[in-house]
Amino acid sequence: MLRYLTGGLLDLLLPRHCAVSGRPLMEEETGPIAPEVLREVELAGADYCTRCGAPQGAGVGVIRECASCREYRDGFGTREVVAIGKYEGVLKEICLALKFGGERKVAGVLAAWLAQLLFDRGLVDKIDVIVPMPLHVIRRFQRGYNQAEVIARPLAQSLEKPVLSEVLRRAGKTERQATLSPAQRKANVEGVFEVRAGRTSDIDGKSVLLIDDVMTTGATLGAAARCLKKAGARAVYAAVAARASLDAGV
Ligand SMILES: [Zn+2]
Repeated sequence: MLRYLTGGLLDLLLPRHCAVSGRPLMEEETGPIAPEVLREVELAGADYCTRCGAPQGAGVGVIRECASCREYRDGFGTREVVAIGKYEGVLKEICLALKFGGERKVAGVLAAWLAQLLFDRGLVDKIDVIVPMPLHVIRRFQRGYNQAEVIARPLAQSLEKPVLSEVLRRAGKTERQATLSPAQRKANVEGVFEVRAGRTSDIDGKSVLLIDDVMTTGATLGAAARCLKKAGARAVYAAVAARASLDAGV
């Protein structure tokens, strides 16, 4: 209650700014991102790859494998991946604002887009529980929050599914993936996740939706998905805010 009151008071005293462009927001612009910025986001439309979530060119339609994921013969351990769009332009700026700019409120915008995509693609009924990709405890402490978890919470609310943020644990601290090759990325994260002792019953026989902010090669996602399945999950789907190509440097 106190936090709510303080927040309301701060809004009155300090003008709010768009989390991406920095433009002062009008009173009626209640979201964290200015409408003209939101309109610039290229959302995944009717053309996409179900295997890795990568948006495709107009007219390609729904395909089960694309140039971005063809080389991953083993797959990602997931049945389908849903991505809002490519990791570029405004969508990339929103992801950066969330991850490094402390702009937690933009997670609600990302969650709303993901909820819409999951409904449109008929995946909501296939999901039992939602699991955010965990951060290593030190990184979580440095940032103050896990960006995947702040996307997962409002998403879970609109889908009316439980969020299990304590089930999966990142056991080891890994090298930053950005500078590594696809093969190095896979080796870097393989075996880094574990299901916490005593929590396997939460996912046993369940269909899990894994949430992350950005997917590049899918190495991290794959390692987490395989870990969940080994612990008894029946199926794993994934929803990510943005699908990056390897040269995006993330
Ligand atoms: Zn693909």
